[in-house]
Amino acid sequence: MRKPIMAGNWKMFKTEAEAVDFAKKIKPLVADVHDRIIIICPPYPVLSKMCDELCNSNIALGAENLFWEDEGAFTGEVSGPMLKAVGCTYVIIGHSERRQYFGETDETVNKRIKAALKHNLYPIVCVGEKLEERENGSTFNVVETQIKGAFKDISVEQWDNIVIAYEPVWAIGTGKTATPEQAQEVHAFIRKLLPEEVAEGTRILYGGSVKPANVKELMAQPDIDGGLVGGASLKVDSFVELVKY
Ligand code: PEP
Repeated sequence: MRKPIMAGNWKMFKTEAEAVDFAKKIKPLVADVHDRIIIICPPYPVLSKMCDELCNSNIALGAENLFWEDEGAFTGEVSGPMLKAVGCTYVIIGHSERRQYFGETDETVNKRIKAALKHNLYPIVCVGEKLEERENGSTFNVVETQIKGAFKDISVEQWDNIVIAYEPVWAIGTGKTATPEQAQEVHAFIRKLLPEEVAEGTRILYGGSVKPANVKELMAQPDIDGGLVGGASLKVDSFVELVKY
């Protein structure tokens, strides 16, 4: 049985005061939820304060990225040990916005995954095709290349804590959700690409305009094990509704 995950990706939203206010409000509203994993991934500057609020609760903390070296002259980067020290358990890797605006490649995604695993951070690894790739029929090729590149040289023993997020780029922040059937088709395809020993146990989240109105039908699909949610994770009400879908 794969325990579902509902993860919020806050992107570049919320100051410290706004983040803490969110944490204080949501904590009691989901305190009774134990049959699914709740994760919030806020921007780096608020992680420490968010840990003060959440680290003793049933809401796990994640970061939005990490660098592959532990320390050094890498201005602007943060490392695995730094994220562990502020209470992170999870880290998003290879989000399409990182790929689109910051030159992230399958090769750098692979290095970041290895760094996360080295420091006992659970990676949430994002893959997904762009609109033109869906339209020209290359969705499966694109996703296969991303998965193979991301997980190059990752051994079966390391798979336990890896989470994958299928996020069609054309559905992120656009209000346009993949139909449950479109999403299920790619999720099932991804699962087939995984090493046989770990395929059934690996959680594959869907991301792309997940909202209270569409979460149930998405979660009803056999290979969709949760959501990676941007916009709808920024408001307490809608995130609670998603967590309690
Ligand atoms: C995301 O940020 O990963 C995402 C899926 O965003 P949204 O839910 O806003 O489409």
